[in-house]
Amino acid sequence: MKDELLEILRDREKGTAAFRKAADKLARVLAEEMENKLREDGVSAEEIMVVPVLRSGIVFLSPFEESFKGVPVGMIGIKRNKKTEEPKLYYKNFRKQIPPVAVIVDPMLATGGSASVVVDALLKDGVDATRIYFLGMVATKEGRDKLAELIPRENIILSAVDPELDTKKFIVPGLGDFGDRYFGTI
Ligand code: URA
Repeated sequence: MKDELLEILRDREKGTAAFRKAADKLARVLAEEMENKLREDGVSAEEIMVVPVLRSGIVFLSPFEESFKGVPVGMIGIKRNKKTEEPKLYYKNFRKQIPPVAVIVDPMLATGGSASVVVDALLKDGVDATRIYFLGMVATKEGRDKLAELIPRENIILSAVDPELDTKKFIVPGLGDFGDRYFGTI
């Protein structure tokens, strides 16, 4: 099921409707996997905050709501500096009482730079590294390994790990710009 959905997402000929349909389905399957992992770890629904990385992370919001009704959402925005290519936080809106468990959701984990900025923000707000989880669709080995230096490797759930990045830091083979394809801003 996951492989078939990924095949659709990887097909650059597919337009927004087909891409969105497959992405929404895959997000639901992955949200269920994360729900099972959190349950295994003894995490209760009331302890969780879901942290979508704008804008592509939004794909996981409604699947997460199905698993965790009324889950607080901590929005976070990261932009890459065009010259230095360094990721920088430009928007963060967490509730005042930060829940003890954070699940970062972002379909693409390329260099791991943005995810590291999000983890830093959570650590600064007092979330323990062992209680930070990451849910994504496609990663590179490099990105996954970088993130695994900050949070437990077993807290990272992905549906594919691709071999490399191109010179524009896009995942190869990857699926292109997730946000552009999902939101139709191509
Ligand atoms: N973000 C995307 O949308 N695609 C990539 O390949 C890398 C980052």
